[in-house]
Amino acid sequence: MSSDPRSDIDIAIIGAGIIGITAAAYLAEAGQSVTLIDRTGICEETSSGNAAAFAFTDPLPLAHKGMMRQLPKWLADPLGPLSIPPAYLPKLLPWLWRFWRAAADGNYEASLAAQGGLMKLAEAEWMGLMQRSATRGMLHEDGCLELYESDAEFQSSLPGWAARDRFGIEYRHLAKSELPDYQPGLAKSFVRGTFLPGWKTVSDPKDLGKAIWRYAEEKGAVFVRGDVGLITPAHGRLTIQLRQGRTVRARQIVIAAGAWSHLLAQQLGDRVPLETERGYNTTLPKTAFDVKRQLVFAGHGFVITPLDTGLRVGGAVELAGLHRPPNFARSKAMLEKAKRFLPGLDPTGGREWMGYRPSLPDTLPVIGRAQSSPNVFYAFGHGHLGLTQSAATARLVRDLVTGASPAIDLAPFSAQRF
Ligand SMILES: Cc1cc2nc3c(=O)[nH]c(=O)nc-3n(C[C@H](O)[C@H](O)[C@H](O)COP(=O)(O)OP(=O)(O)OC[C@H]3O[C@@H](n4cnc5c(N)ncnc54)[C@H](O)[C@@H]3O)c2cc1C
Repeated sequence: MSSDPRSDIDIAIIGAGIIGITAAAYLAEAGQSVTLIDRTGICEETSSGNAAAFAFTDPLPLAHKGMMRQLPKWLADPLGPLSIPPAYLPKLLPWLWRFWRAAADGNYEASLAAQGGLMKLAEAEWMGLMQRSATRGMLHEDGCLELYESDAEFQSSLPGWAARDRFGIEYRHLAKSELPDYQPGLAKSFVRGTFLPGWKTVSDPKDLGKAIWRYAEEKGAVFVRGDVGLITPAHGRLTIQLRQGRTVRARQIVIAAGAWSHLLAQQLGDRVPLETERGYNTTLPKTAFDVKRQLVFAGHGFVITPLDTGLRVGGAVELAGLHRPPNFARSKAMLEKAKRFLPGLDPTGGREWMGYRPSLPDTLPVIGRAQSSPNVFYAFGHGHLGLTQSAATARLVRDLVTGASPAIDLAPFSAQRF
């Protein structure tokens, strides 16, 4: 072991995405000694380029019967809202089977109840963290506008809105004549809309991640660049072998490595069916169009978000694993649609991006202990909602690490539920 003081650390968090960053902030606030380890940097992967939504009003699990009915139509369009490269299908089948089962009535209801509880905590924790870290100025509270191109599309959205009633989530259905009040310049093809006043966005997810990290650093957290290869429990501590050849020892570890987390969990005896839902977007200059609030085109699987740093157009799901090169024809296809939906949009000068949503088939993240090592904690698998649920996850990680009673029941989020 080298004499470098960072070779023997107290709590190591692996992964400096928004989950690892917020966990570092919460633990450092609680007086814990925290080292955040990442092979790239602070908020440089999926958490850097997402759609910036605090989707506290979206507790609905992805796998539901309405979605299953859409699948054949979506899969028929290779650049549509959902695609699976045929060569990847055999590897994906076990995950798809679990996803299918998650849509069954009882399973769906169980995920909905768990997700509803986590979302309530998510909003309270983010508002508190923003206050404490002086980042409240990065919050946009303009709500969002979901748009429908046919009455049939609107009607098929109604069960989802009814499910939100159970959580007291406020929304307002809009007639065609009301749409320009919420977003001027929309194409005439939209016949209905729904306004969600409680939906929030942030000024830029990467800027927010870096700001929360600065706050964590002020509280004493430190960063180490390193690519974690092997984790081995030994004599009540854990040895972390970095691919660069260095080894560090830790008393406790939090695995928050996003779409790569299952590779580490597997070493500790937990086989977690984590897949990645790859998503694409293009960030245009701010001047591309005056978008008043986040616009959601659910039937096309993408959104447009006005950021302080640009106008972000994108979404979609590509189930294609961690190794295939990006297919930016997907971001171009969404941009073309955006131009159709907002005819005055200037689609030039954009920057394309792809990120890896870390997704479990029942939509719930993994938050809890490793099976074989009580001093390893998991915090990953937040799918479409990692930014939204990060502060709540950090709170729960802090509860576990410090031995406090968790703020919500963690059984539905266990790594051993599969
Ligand atoms: C197009 C798109 C739009 C989205 N929009 C939203 C949205 O509006 N709202 C929302 O809430 N969520 C959204 N999401 C989802 C959200 O971005 C993710 O859930 C979230 O970023 C996951 O955060 P994370 O910290 O788990 O993972 P990441 O941000 O991917 O961070 C994981 C980190 O772990 C590191 N790492 C992995 N393995 C190792 C290793 N072995 N050693 C060292 N480091 C390692 C990686 O380098 C990376 O930095 C969107 C996602 C996409 C793709």
